[in-house]
Amino acid sequence: MVMGDMELNTELLVIGSGPGGYAAAFRAADLGLDVTLVDPRPRPGGVCLFEGCIPSKTGLHLAELLLDTRHAASQGLHFTEPRIDLAEVRAWKQQVIDSMADGLVQLARKRGVQLIQGIARFEDSTTVRLEHSEIRRVRFRHAVIATGSRPLAYPGRGFRPGSRIMSSSEALMLNDIPARLLVIGGGYVGLELGTLYAAFGSKVQVVEMGDRLLAGVDLDLVAPLRRRLDGLFESISLRTRVTTMQEGENGVEVQVQDENGGLENRFFDRVLVAIGRQANTADLGLNKTAVRLDSRSFIQINDQQQTADRSISAVGDVAGGIMLAHKATREGRVAAEVIAGEKSSFDVRAIPAVVYTDPQIAWCGLTEELAEKDGVPVAVQKFPWKYSGRAQTMGASDGFTKVLVNPEDGRIVGVGVVGRNAEGLIAEGVLAIEMGALAEDMALSLHPHPTLSETEAEAAEIFIGSPTHILPKKIGKS
Ligand SMILES: Cc1cc2nc3c(=O)[nH]c(=O)nc-3n(C[C@H](O)[C@H](O)[C@H](O)COP(=O)(O)OP(=O)(O)OC[C@H]3O[C@@H](n4cnc5c(N)ncnc54)[C@H](O)[C@@H]3O)c2cc1C
Repeated sequence: MVMGDMELNTELLVIGSGPGGYAAAFRAADLGLDVTLVDPRPRPGGVCLFEGCIPSKTGLHLAELLLDTRHAASQGLHFTEPRIDLAEVRAWKQQVIDSMADGLVQLARKRGVQLIQGIARFEDSTTVRLEHSEIRRVRFRHAVIATGSRPLAYPGRGFRPGSRIMSSSEALMLNDIPARLLVIGGGYVGLELGTLYAAFGSKVQVVEMGDRLLAGVDLDLVAPLRRRLDGLFESISLRTRVTTMQEGENGVEVQVQDENGGLENRFFDRVLVAIGRQANTADLGLNKTAVRLDSRSFIQINDQQQTADRSISAVGDVAGGIMLAHKATREGRVAAEVIAGEKSSFDVRAIPAVVYTDPQIAWCGLTEELAEKDGVPVAVQKFPWKYSGRAQTMGASDGFTKVLVNPEDGRIVGVGVVGRNAEGLIAEGVLAIEMGALAEDMALSLHPHPTLSETEAEAAEIFIGSPTHILPKKIGKS
């Protein structure tokens, strides 16, 4: 690497240091490449670490504690109302973020990855110009674009600092606990943050334009969550759209319209707009390269993460598909391996997804809805948690585990879980699908008792006709 006249040459420039970008940089460095990682933030981590996965889960961990103390009343434990010190909560959240971010800086240093602060913009297919940086220009042999995504604003309204109309980023700052919070959008970000604020004491209303919460998730998985949310939130309005928002000194007046055209004015202290995310491609100068975008401005890639420009790859949210951190990380590693000349591709059968609500929902592989849409025959084996000893001991018997099996060859093609610790349970499903496991493999692998993991084995046992805690189908029918 030669640095001079504020210019720098590097073999691989990674633009954006979120989980896609830093994974690409680290893997490439491990494979012997000279790597430079640029981001406006001084430390790696991206949206996931600073305003996404990690701060939301520190908050949701506390929400879970709070909700657990309430559920515990039905089991004989009566807590007094907790005192919430928001300043301490914020400090704890920051401590978690700092510890992770500092760890990533150390990992970068030890690998010899050069971290540069700045905003990159392409001048051509081998050069970027940096703004807000000590370095003016970087010339590269290869570049990986990992610039992620940003929250979509409500049409006609950007997000302003200090505004009562927030994106998830501002909501996660936890500046206050609004007495009345409107969440626009019934996707996972809206429901997770709605849960967080409701547990902390806000009266939460959700409005969703579509006819369901968590579009794309099987309806049966959503049903137990919906029942719980009906108790936790003040209201959930489906097929309802926000028509106007007037922000005043004391709050936001919102007009909503239901499916019949009926208008209603509601008043909130804060509004969270969680209606989706858009790719960070607009200001990258991609017109100076051969990179192509799709109709929604995501970068088009092949399964080796290569764009239409030979020297440029793209990974993570900016490359579209499922916008989750673990997908970004895998793509980052694949991009690095391909650039280093290894045989590698994004060859993943099951991308797991988790919604960290109470109860949690997790799924991987085929969903029932997708199977039906694509005409793929599946045998759906459901094990209700009311038959699970562990679920009963936790007061979590409203959950269930389902395993989707190819009826022809007995292979597991999908798994869905709703209930406590769905986040941990789904990993077995991922491994099963990746390994081409049969339902029999899952059923005959010994699962420890009493654990929720047994519900996966029990669901698989239904398929092979030998369940223990539920009657086999033919016995049940007669
Ligand atoms: C509230 C919330 C909760 C979430 N929870 C989860 C979860 O629990 N699990 C999960 O898997 N995913 C979760 N996600 C999604 C996850 O955060 C993203 O999928 C993930 O961060 C994408 O990683 P990435 O590397 O593609 O980009 P990002 O993490 O978005 O990072 C992109 C980086 O690029 C930088 N950048 C942008 N433009 C430039 C430029 N021109 N020059 C240099 N740098 C630039 C940005 O500053 C940023 O640091 C959540 C998201 C949100 C908003």
